[in-house]
Amino acid sequence: MASTNGITCYDGRRFRVFHDPVFKEGDFYYNLAASPDGRIWFKMGWGYSLSYIDSQQERIIRVSDTTRLVRRYLARYGSHSLYADAQANLWISLQKHGLLKVNTRTLAVEHIVDQGLNIGFITQDRQGLIYFTTDKKGFFAYNPQTRKLTNYQHRTNDTTSLSSNITSGVQARPDGSILVGLAGEVNLFQPATGQFTNLALNTQRTASSSGPAFVKEFTLDKQGNAYFSSGTLIFRYTAQGILQRVGVSSPTHHTNTLHVSPANRLWISLADKLYEYDLHQAPVAPSLLFLAVTVNGTELGNNTSATQNLVYDGQGHPTLTVRENDPFTLQFTLTAKQLLTTLRWRLVGYNQEWIASQDIQGEAAYQLPAGSYTFIVNQGFRGGGWEPTSSTMTIVVVAPFWKTPAFLVFMFLIVAGVGYYLVRTYIRRRQLAQQLAREQQQAASLRQLDEFKTRFFNNVTHEFRTPLTIILNATEQLTAKTLAHHERPEIETIQRHAQQLLRLITETLDIARLDAGKLEAHPQLGDPVWFTGQVVAQFASLAAQRGLRLTYNNQPAIDWLPDDNNPARGAFAGGALFSFDGEKWEKITYNLLANALKFTPRGGSVQVTGHVVPSGHFSLVVQDTGIGIPTDQVARIFDRFHQVDDRSTRAYSGTGIGLALVRELVGWLGGEITVDSQLDQGSRFTVALPLLGPDHATWPTTAVPAKTSQTPPPPTEQLPPQSSIKPILTRVGPLGEAATSDLIGKPLVLVVEDNDDLRAQVVDYLSGDYLVLPAQHGRLGWEEALNQVPDLIVSDVMMPELDGYQLLDRLKRDERTSHIPVILLTARSSAESRMQGLQLGADDYLVKPFSLAELGLRIANGLRTRQQAQKRLLTQLNLPPVPGPTTPTPTREETFLSQLRQAILAQLDNERLDVDWLAAQAQMSRTQLNRKLSALTGLSPNRFIQRIRLERGAELLRSGTMSIVEVADQIGYDSPSYFAKVFQEQFGYPPSKWRDQ
Ligand code: ADP
Repeated sequence: MASTNGITCYDGRRFRVFHDPVFKEGDFYYNLAASPDGRIWFKMGWGYSLSYIDSQQERIIRVSDTTRLVRRYLARYGSHSLYADAQANLWISLQKHGLLKVNTRTLAVEHIVDQGLNIGFITQDRQGLIYFTTDKKGFFAYNPQTRKLTNYQHRTNDTTSLSSNITSGVQARPDGSILVGLAGEVNLFQPATGQFTNLALNTQRTASSSGPAFVKEFTLDKQGNAYFSSGTLIFRYTAQGILQRVGVSSPTHHTNTLHVSPANRLWISLADKLYEYDLHQAPVAPSLLFLAVTVNGTELGNNTSATQNLVYDGQGHPTLTVRENDPFTLQFTLTAKQLLTTLRWRLVGYNQEWIASQDIQGEAAYQLPAGSYTFIVNQGFRGGGWEPTSSTMTIVVVAPFWKTPAFLVFMFLIVAGVGYYLVRTYIRRRQLAQQLAREQQQAASLRQLDEFKTRFFNNVTHEFRTPLTIILNATEQLTAKTLAHHERPEIETIQRHAQQLLRLITETLDIARLDAGKLEAHPQLGDPVWFTGQVVAQFASLAAQRGLRLTYNNQPAIDWLPDDNNPARGAFAGGALFSFDGEKWEKITYNLLANALKFTPRGGSVQVTGHVVPSGHFSLVVQDTGIGIPTDQVARIFDRFHQVDDRSTRAYSGTGIGLALVRELVGWLGGEITVDSQLDQGSRFTVALPLLGPDHATWPTTAVPAKTSQTPPPPTEQLPPQSSIKPILTRVGPLGEAATSDLIGKPLVLVVEDNDDLRAQVVDYLSGDYLVLPAQHGRLGWEEALNQVPDLIVSDVMMPELDGYQLLDRLKRDERTSHIPVILLTARSSAESRMQGLQLGADDYLVKPFSLAELGLRIANGLRTRQQAQKRLLTQLNLPPVPGPTTPTPTREETFLSQLRQAILAQLDNERLDVDWLAAQAQMSRTQLNRKLSALTGLSPNRFIQRIRLERGAELLRSGTMSIVEVADQIGYDSPSYFAKVFQEQFGYPPSKWRDQ
């Protein structure tokens, strides 16, 4: 073996290295050429010198530099390759200077050809012809006998010509044909015909090669098989002409030199390695050659993809990759065509039988499900029988990505993940829903309980109110009676405590209402400064009693001290009117003041300031010089039931709800409350409450019609709610001097109330001024009302048999009683119940507990209002009953009267025009008609008829076409003198004078 460091000899047991005698190391040699005379020729380096090993001498002998060969040629041009022919001639190819023939005995040189040829390799056939390859000019044959040189070159479009002009290795075969190595292919040259056959090698697309490697050296074994390599692949071209690939394990480097030993061992030297293979054991496969591979109708070219390609591994084994269900066809052949006659093939696992072809080419088409297949091609001999070895190809059919196990696993994971997530979410949701349902149920039952509690609370506290009203009224009456002096304080104590109890009940109710969100607004018009003064005034006596100085600052618009006779009229006249919720303001002020008085020791002072701030709110300051509140407690005093001193032995009584209510009411009204306090110095509570202009107020429904502007507004409008301030009212005469002469005696008032004590109280109280008719319940009340037709009815709402609303409804629907004013006494102060009453036509209402004095006042008001209505109705009687633009739609009572008038006018000349006739017309009893007419007009039925007659008479007289006698006759007076008398009574003139005017 020639190497880069001497010549190595291996005898099967040991290596021996021969060095150049001059260059002991680094003597690198090439191109061993064994000559039949026993010498082995080689060149050193670029071939400027020539050496040989004599097998006897076993040392390197260098051809003398002085020889002509070396001097004239080698040293001058350098050499490529050496070839020792059968005659022991040495053929040397010079670099770019053709070929030398050297007689090795004489060292005589013959320059066969120059032509600037760069000759690659040289060989000699059995006839002694020399063949050599060139790097540009193709392939040459040289006959040493005739000295004839023949050049074979590539001719385009001639498949029998040399495949390429760049030729490399060359080898004469025992049968006389010549193998010519080219890049990636080998041509078989038949000297007899001068034709070349291409033995295409299956080297394309090998994993390691960048391009097809040149086939350089050939080596022949004893049987005449030629071995050669292309890149990393080793091929054998058998003596029979079959191209095989030798399946030796793949050296990764290009093969340098091949040698087959007589023992049929293949030696391969790489750059620095030597391999030995036993060719008996090396699998040999004929190479499968694909002429065309078509996938989906298009030829598989270079533009392959990961799922569609044909690749060869290091040993040239092809693997075709196609996609599932892609149809593909394979056109293939095996090498060494001239000997090949038949082919057969089979796709393992798909074709049960071989498919045979009599052609040298085969074509197979498949469309396969995913999987890995082996495609086997086997070749047959002309005389029958099949080659024991066959070529295989692996076909990998890839499933679409969504069918790949990885994807399926991935999908499974995703589905499992999503499933898990969904199940978990579902479970969690269900749990949440259950929890929610549970909570809702709990909340519902709590709410129910709460509602139940509130209802119970309301009912019970309402129930407390009636007895309290009775107690308060009783004490009021007692006070009114002249009592022995020593009894007074006791009565006052009862009164005070009853008031206190009532207040506590009201506060508790308020808190409950606040919680239930049922607190209602009760806006009223008034002067807030005066109003506050009223509240403060209530505490005057208490303050005096406790030895405290109570002052109210910031002069209100009017004198704030209560004045029964002129209740705050000035405030309205002064125009300082605002809309505010007096009821709640009163509670706020009351609580703050009560606390201030309670927590201020004797000798201290409590100062209240109230004034309207231009920004639209009312500022209330309650300042005391009392015990003060510890700093750490200030924040908590507004909490419910919180008391600074909560020991059972504490000095101050209380419940701890006062300030809580205050704060909530202030918040409800949209105001603010702050507190400043210092222990032992005193406290200051500052409240800011929003005020609205007068337009925002809804006048309490008891308002007297606006027409009667001379009358002062009903006292309730100026007075704080009756629960806290006992209205100090003197009894007002029912009708005063305005009472019509027709009204005999006192007005008749029907009191319908089921509580015996309260009824008795009311009856007792009213009986001084009125004729009072008691009724135990609604049905009795209704009967009494029908029988007696009272002037006014006072009725409780909650009663057995027939409740107040039902009674009211009946009264207002019935012609006989529809005119009677009704005052409802209601324990509920809620808006709905009030609205209900008012809708049904109640003229007024009073919320329990009420003061008797107020009831008296309201009754007087009601009767006075009726008196005004009487006047109006009387004047309207004269007018024609046609509704003009100025007269609003007639009321029920107006219609009633005008119907009566029409009936009378139609029967003026009727002699029997009397009370009975009129009662029949009105479908009432005499008494009922009498009561109703006098209530509506202040006239008895007879007087009413007379009045209509006379007015008709006056009308006729005024027309001037009739004499007095005629007129008297016309309107049903038999005696003209009697007509004249009554006429004068009515109008103050005699008829004659009336007519002349
Ligand atoms: P109570 O029914 O106890 O008066 P409040 O809610 O009205 O309940 O007051 C709560 C606590 O705040 C009282 O117990 C008292 O300790 C304290 N407090 C309220 N006002 C004053 C004040 N003007 N001076 C001193 N302490 C006060």
